[in-house]
This record gives sequence, structure tokens and C-alpha cells, in this order.
Amino acid sequence: MELINKSIKLQEVLNEYRSKGKTIGFVPTMGALHSGHVSLVKQAKEKCDVVVVSIFVNPTQFNDVKDLEKYPRTLERDMVLLEGFCDVVFFPETPEEVYGKEMILKDYDFDGVDKVLEGEFRPGHFKGMANVVSKFFDVIEPDFSFFGLKDYQQYLLVKKMVKLDKHKTQIIGCDIIREPNGLAMSSRNERLSADARDAASVIKYTLDYCSKYYAYFDIEEIQAKAKNMIEGILEVEYLEFRNANTLQLIKEDEEMDGFLVCFAGYIEDVRLIDNIVVTL
Ligand code: AMP
Repeated sequence: MELINKSIKLQEVLNEYRSKGKTIGFVPTMGALHSGHVSLVKQAKEKCDVVVVSIFVNPTQFNDVKDLEKYPRTLERDMVLLEGFCDVVFFPETPEEVYGKEMILKDYDFDGVDKVLEGEFRPGHFKGMANVVSKFFDVIEPDFSFFGLKDYQQYLLVKKMVKLDKHKTQIIGCDIIREPNGLAMSSRNERLSADARDAASVIKYTLDYCSKYYAYFDIEEIQAKAKNMIEGILEVEYLEFRNANTLQLIKEDEEMDGFLVCFAGYIEDVRLIDNIVVTL
């Protein structure tokens, strides 16, 4: 496994692989890796000859400077977790290496998909995310790129960005990896007490309840019921049923391929998100 800090060097190495007919898979991350990230890397290795993992804490997608400063940086441990599944780790040491001297961000028209849910609670987050991922696609030109469905809205927006910027990569959405009790894996889980981790299993329990029993209720009714199941254990920021393609609220008798039940909320001051996709 090779550790590379410079975009130019990365392009050289990847061109060499490409000239030998190798396919390239890409997994962007911000480091502090756990089994959720590793599952993406394993899927990339199954599908592609060469796997590139980027580790870059992208400043432009943080709306809170303190959050950016607090973000865990654990390169050595990350490298140990990646060994055996990853060929190249791209670890730009400065934002300039990714953005160039002037950090000019592009505005995307995402048809409103970036304005709701996480977009509402984390202003600027998706603009920063889309810009950095597009920069990585320019440098790496991956055949396939792997994104976790835990960040479902991000997955939809990356697919839109790929169309708008005419990248050639195919986006693969990867299932959410969970703790044994159902809690979606996240580097933020480390900040929870054992009791809170236990209690947070109510999120998956409630999402499962929604996916099993939605047909027995009106949306408002089941939404209220689900919120009730969680409130008291976590502080709910949102728990909503949304159209799985547009992320807009579902209208009565709306025709759709599927819906998303999505959650964001706090326990012990740690913000957790989770979702479940129900295909119709
Ligand atoms: P991050 O480092 O948080 O930006 O995440 C990098 C990638 O890992 C994103 O595509 C996430 O959606 C994905 N990811 C994070 N946690 C999980 C998980 N528990 N299961 C599946 N994918 C995940």
C-alpha cells in the first residue's frame, strides 16, 4: 500500500496502472476509519483492480470551525485498517493541494435536494462536499466510486454532481454497517457512553418499525408515533418520510419508486443520523 500526498504523483501512479488496463475504484473518506468505511473499501477491491482511498478532512464542508478542529485524525491507525484492501492512500496535507491557491467553490443546482434535511441543518455542507469530491474525481478519474447509504442525501447529490460535471465514474451506494445492537457505525459513536450507545439502538428499532408498518397508518400518524418512540431517549431533530429520489415530503397518493425514513438527533450532545430506504 502506497501513501501519496501530492495530486501530481497520484496521477502518475494511476496513469501507470491504467496503461496496464487496470480499473480504478475510489473511496473518499475523512479518516477516523471504522468497519463502515472498511466495508466500502472491501467492495471496491472486489469490483476493481486498484483501490484508492482518500483521507482528507475537508474544511469547506464544516459549518462549525470547532467541529473541524475537533475532528479525529488517526492516520496511522487508518493505514492499519486499510492494509490488504487498499492500494493507494491519498492524504493531501493541505487544502491547497486539493483546491489550489484560491479556494473557489462552484455553485451547483441540485433541484432542491441539497436544501432539505441535512442541507437545512448544516448550511454550506453539501456545497463543500460536492466541490471536494468533484476535485478528487478530476485527479483520480475512477471507474467506480463508493459511497455509504448512511449519508443517503450525499449519495444522491454526488450522483447529480457527476452528471452536472460530466465525470465518467459510476457511483455505487453501499449498505449501512451497524453495531451488533443496530446503531449505525460512525466515528462519533466513540464519544458516547456505553449506556448511550445501548439506548441509541432505539433509532434502528424505530426505522424498522416504520418500514414494516407504514401501510397501516397515514404518514403523519406513523411519523408522530415514531418520534414518540425515540423522544425521551434522544432529542429528535427530524424524523421524516421523504420521496427517495427527490427527498421532498410525500404528498397524499403520490406515485413513487420508494421512500426514505430518515432521522437526525442528539444523545449526550452527539449528533447521530440514520435512515432506511423502503422500495415499493
Ligand atoms: P466520512 O469519512 O464520514 O466522510 O465517510 C466516508 C464514507 O463512508 C461515506 O461514503 C460514508 O457514507 C461512509 N460510511 C460512514 N459510515 C458508514 C457506515 N456505518 N456504513 C456504511 N458506510 C458508511
